Amino acid sequence: MGELLSIKNLKTYFYTEDGVIKAVDDVSLSIREGETLGVVGESGCGKSITAMSILKLIPNPPGKIVDGEIIFDGKDLTKATDEEIRKIRGNKISVIFQEPMTSLNPVFTIGDQIIEAIVLHQNMNKEKAREKAIDMLKLVGIPRADEVVDAYPHELSGGMRQRAMIAMAMACNPKLLIADEPTTALDVTIQAQILDLMRDLKNKTNTSIMLITHDLGVVAEMADHVVVMYAGKVVEEANVYEIFKNPMHPYTLGLLESKPILNQDKDRLNSIPGQVPNPLNMPEGCYFHPRCSKAMDICRREQPELCSVKDGHRVACHLYREVK
Ligand code: SF4
Ligand code: MG
Repeated sequence: MGELLSIKNLKTYFYTEDGVIKAVDDVSLSIREGETLGVVGESGCGKSITAMSILKLIPNPPGKIVDGEIIFDGKDLTKATDEEIRKIRGNKISVIFQEPMTSLNPVFTIGDQIIEAIVLHQNMNKEKAREKAIDMLKLVGIPRADEVVDAYPHELSGGMRQRAMIAMAMACNPKLLIADEPTTALDVTIQAQILDLMRDLKNKTNTSIMLITHDLGVVAEMADHVVVMYAGKVVEEANVYEIFKNPMHPYTLGLLESKPILNQDKDRLNSIPGQVPNPLNMPEGCYFHPRCSKAMDICRREQPELCSVKDGHRVACHLYREVK
């Protein structure tokens, strides 16, 4: 499997009146062809900003990619022109968000929106594009697709809207699908169905997925490889088995413990104490130290670097400094 996306030392900052927010601070990660990368962390850890940086969706000002490379399909997207990015967006790279109502236009039918995406990026006339739109709606498991194609977004349930969104995202056979909390707004049963659908589509199309979530349960079901982010930095990275079998970073351990356990009223009992630090007032040393039960003196002074502790398992924590 070749590398499809490789982010190297990305820094995306926001210049506000109150100071500089380092939303993405020296992040490196990569996604192989056909792979699902889970990007995990609490909200405000820089996951979405990393994803938005890929497609140049960062509002500028106040945001700006200040450093780093985003190599996609052999090309550095940080250097691409707006025109080049427009050709890639919705074509080679598609995005789905948590709440499809924000990405689907309420005044156009579902079909119109899928057809527009197809006509824009593929050499197809409207009639053919409409057939393809209906096929896509069928593919994502929408019943009566030939009627739904003429429905407006508000006429569909939340789960059906998310399916329609996925149909639109997949209509141009993207090489990379960025899914930002795709199931968070849905109830548990619908969530499971949407995850099944995404896994199915991935297996059929070999599309790579960057799956952004705060939910390690979703990661366990979907991801091949996992990146854990905290306060704009990658704090741990490994394949999915390793992350669950041998988690190392105290933040990852905290996330694993705060995962709600089915049939047990444990939700929130074990959640990590404290909050993500104020980005305008980051602590010295390890950003996690005010919340870490294992913090040592060095943690309050020195920021730990992301180091390889064993094959393909990297962690940024002073506890593992000795390990080589
Ligand atoms: Fe905790 Fe120190 Fe590791 Fe940070 S570096 S996670 S404070 S032990
Ligand atoms: Mg987010």
